[in-house]
Amino acid sequence: MQDRVGVAPLPTTIYKSFRIEAAHRLPHVPPGHKCARLHGHSFRIELRLCGEPDPVTGWLMDFADLKKAFAPVFEAIDHRYLNDVAGLENPTSERLAEWVWQRLRPSLPLLEEVRVAETCTAGACYRGP
Ligand SMILES: [Zn+2]
Repeated sequence: MQDRVGVAPLPTTIYKSFRIEAAHRLPHVPPGHKCARLHGHSFRIELRLCGEPDPVTGWLMDFADLKKAFAPVFEAIDHRYLNDVAGLENPTSERLAEWVWQRLRPSLPLLEEVRVAETCTAGACYRGP
């Protein structure tokens, strides 16, 4: 691999995903909708950050620091009933992605997108205002 020291950095996206287990129900779906019933998901939450890697380390950010930044969010929502979490009274994947963004963006200025997958095939992306 060629050393990039002294070469103009290029924008790069990094990502790290986390898994949480949580229960929820959706209070505003039509009568009889299955999502109105209490159920759970193994949510996959992916954080995507974009910027220019440091020319010496080659890193945008240490993944260990990303894990540390996510830790309070993990504590707040893992093995929880999401409807009881302040700000998640209607805990759709869309709202959960936005909620995570709002908590992390102040300390992660390179945060570009939060992805929340509630199943292997369905999820939401939030990119901020
Ligand atoms: Zn659900």
